[in-house]
This record gives sequence, C-alpha cells and structure tokens, in this order.
Amino acid sequence: MQQFLLRITALLMLIAGWRLMAFGQQLPTDGSLTIRPMLQQLGERLLQGKTGAIVAINPANGEILCLATNTPAGSDVRQAIGKPYAPGSTFKTAQALALLSEGIVTPDTRMECNSGITDGNIKVGCHKHRSPLALKEALAYSCNTWFIVNFGSMINDEFMYESHDEAITTWRSYMQSMGLGGPMHIDIKGEQGGLLAGADYLNRRYKDGWDGKTIWWAGMGQGDVTCTPLQLCNLAVTIANRGWYYVPHVHKNTTNQRYLTRRQTKVAAAAYPPVIEGMRLAVEKGTATSVKTTYPICGKTGTIENPGTDHSAFIGFAPMDSPKIAVAVYVEHGGFGADMAAPMAGLIIEDYLKGKLSAVSRLRAERIAAKRIL
Ligand SMILES: [Zn+2]
Repeated sequence: MQQFLLRITALLMLIAGWRLMAFGQQLPTDGSLTIRPMLQQLGERLLQGKTGAIVAINPANGEILCLATNTPAGSDVRQAIGKPYAPGSTFKTAQALALLSEGIVTPDTRMECNSGITDGNIKVGCHKHRSPLALKEALAYSCNTWFIVNFGSMINDEFMYESHDEAITTWRSYMQSMGLGGPMHIDIKGEQGGLLAGADYLNRRYKDGWDGKTIWWAGMGQGDVTCTPLQLCNLAVTIANRGWYYVPHVHKNTTNQRYLTRRQTKVAAAAYPPVIEGMRLAVEKGTATSVKTTYPICGKTGTIENPGTDHSAFIGFAPMDSPKIAVAVYVEHGGFGADMAAPMAGLIIEDYLKGKLSAVSRLRAERIAAKRIL
C-alpha cells in the first residue's frame, strides 16, 4: 500500500512538473498592465515555432509595452527576464559608449581589419568590409577587430589604470550603470540578470593570470558577458534617452519609487551622438538593412555563435530624435541577426508607431510567423 501511495505521489509530482513546464511562467494577472495587447499579440505571432523573446519598452517611463516569449512548451516570461545569453554584437553599442567615455577611443579612431585579426594562436574572424573603419562604420558593419582590440587596449592601459583589476572594475561600472550585470528588480518574479566579468571572477577563473587579450571576446559580446533580452532592451532605452532609464515594469500607475526614480548612466553625454549615428547607419546601409522601414530606426544586429545554428539578436529604437519605443529581439538558432531578429523588431516598431502594419509588412509578418525552427 505504502509503495502504491509513493508511486501515485511520484506520478502526481511528475504531472505537476509537466504542467509547470507546459504552461511556463505567464505575465502577472494582478492590476492593470502596461503591456499593449495588440503589440503583444503581434510579438507572440512572430515568435510562433521559435524559441525566443521580444521585449519593447517606452523609453520615457520604463513601461514594458511588449513581453512576448515562446519556448517548445509555449510562452514563458522567463525566456525574456530569466535567461541570460551572450549578447553578441548588440553589446558593441555599450562597448563603444564605455570606450568613448574613458577616452580610450574617439569617433575617428580607425582600425585595420583584414577579414579579422590573428594574434599568436588567437584568430578572430570578421565580415568582408572596407578597411580601416572609424567608430560609426565599425558599428554599422559590426567590425569584430575594432571592438576586441580597443576593449583589450583599455584593459591593458597601464597609464590610465594601476592594474588590470582597476581597469576591469572601471569598465564594469559603466556596464552596471546601463542596467547590466545583475537583476534590475523589475516587478515580475523570476528575474535573473546576466554576468559581467569582474576582477574577482576573472582572478578566480584565470588562475595563471589574465589581461585584456584573455578576455578579448567580451569586446564583441561573447565569452565572459551575458544579458537577458530584457536587459538588452533596457540598454537600447538608455541609448534612446542619451543616458538615463527607469527600471522597466509592467504594472500601470505604480507608486513604488523604484520604478519612478530616473537612473543616470555613467556614460559621457558626448559619447551618445556617434553611437546613435552608427546605429542609424547600421539600419540604412550596414548589417541591419533588413529592418526594412521608412522610420528613422537606430539599431544593432547580433549573430551569436553557439552549438548549432547561430542565435539571432537585434536591439534598436525609433524615431532617432524623439524615441517612442525601444526593442530587443532574441531568437535561438534564428541565424544572422539580420535574418530574423531585425525584421521582427522593424515590424514591432511599425505597428506601435503607426497603430497597424502596412499590407506589405503584414505579408512579411506572416512569412516570419510561418518559419519553424523549434
Ligand atoms: Zn572587421
């Protein structure tokens, strides 16, 4: 009898676990939410047959407009707020802001890149592009060499910093001020922030010592740095606002000061214009032309290497000069950032700014919705 009861209990636990997995964590149901139902619906439709997240935020007040997610077991909000990923090249925006603020680079800093760079036995590939490129073009064409070498130079700069520890601590403080490297404490349970390499972590991980080259990869958003799609969207918010954000939230008319206090980034005000122009150039002529829109969107693609097909990512905001919406899209195994994430973000932005999609955009949305990569 006892064994029978044990078996029944185990079976019930299995069913409960399966139910939890099958239904995932949903959006809160208490109070009215800032989520725009039509936008949410479009986001969920675009993510059909894929594992990923689409997050959109109103930069003016931190209200989350869309928090669409999908997994093999259906929607699960943790896909957007509790699953840190390598940000890939979307992170180059944050790198540019930190490097400019510290005076390690200027908008005119040019780097030679011959389909990548080789240093000893380290080899980092890059796309074919004109060379040398300055900052704006390096962002627009997503030059890996530009970002890893300049990031490495910052960490190894012995005139600016007394030690590698001090350099990485300084770098990290910029990233943290943009909402990265830990949970932001949004008003939904289950949030988990990403990782940012810090001195303690690096000293533990690389016992034989480390320097800027050891962590080159972080320069292009791979390796010792991860962010959730929510954090990536907030990064886009800080850029849209040229240096500030409110902690993202889904409850309307909140009175909690956490969500009503404006947070300032550590980034120098002068660093924003060249980065924003680089993001605009990415959409006009660079790696993000597949956004395909007449709106002045600023954006940055990310293509993240991992086992299997690459992950596809994009962050952006629009309009360029008076931003109304910031978006982050992250689709597992979606291929190039330009293949999947960028056009999805373009559709979300169009739908929000126009109130509906044009006939051509509706067709594009259907084509994306029909793609199955789960
Ligand atoms: Zn390059």
